[in-house]
Amino acid sequence: MSTDSGFHNLVEALRQPGCAVCRLKIDSADGFVESLLYEGVTDPDRRHTLRESQGYCFEHAWSLERTGASLGTAIITQDLLQRAVKAVDEARFEAEGAWSRHRVRSLLRREQAEGANAALSERLGPHIQCPACLWSDNMERLFVEDLLKYLLEEKGLLGTFEASDGLCLPHFRRALGLVRDEEVYLALIRAQQVVWERLIDDLGEFVRKNDHRFQHERMGKREGDAWLRAISTMVGALPGRDK
Ligand SMILES: [Zn+2]
Ligand SMILES: [Zn+2]
Repeated sequence: MSTDSGFHNLVEALRQPGCAVCRLKIDSADGFVESLLYEGVTDPDRRHTLRESQGYCFEHAWSLERTGASLGTAIITQDLLQRAVKAVDEARFEAEGAWSRHRVRSLLRREQAEGANAALSERLGPHIQCPACLWSDNMERLFVEDLLKYLLEEKGLLGTFEASDGLCLPHFRRALGLVRDEEVYLALIRAQQVVWERLIDDLGEFVRKNDHRFQHERMGKREGDAWLRAISTMVGALPGRDK
């Protein structure tokens, strides 16, 4: 059995509801989002990154509410809004169709650039990818690689994985792209199928008990939330939901 912290984190996550990779990814992103924000308050390089990315994307900006990082959010957002005020002050009206340098750049990046005031709009937008998205993507890869690495180890993850909610479809597909060993591949797909079969049965029971002929039967806990687990399985966990 491994003594690696990656192994133990996976065991812990697999014992919780939902996809373990989603859970670990969300937790690690929450930590990153908060720490970068605080570093951004004191470190000019970090502040520059957050200015270039215009803070965080929708998902990671709202994760700040969950982590309660109110002071850092206030300080960084104040800075971003002061820069927005300056950008709007310095801009002048640009009619639709003006072939500015900014508009050409936006078109090349396939961003919305068909409207008026493309230069100002671009200045107010992010110029680099959300740093938390970048971090999460790298961490997701590490978590999936760890899962594959420990799946067939002696006293490895296979049993715990099979008893869990398995991987969500996006993370199962990511695992398919990262698995290099056929034995691990076969163990993974079999275990994932066991998980899917279990959910299919729960969904069947949920549908059956919604039939008016069986409505007198009480909905059990397993099938009662099967439709929500089905959403999570198809698209991944909603941050903050399955805590
Ligand atoms: Zn997932
Ligand atoms: Zn993001």
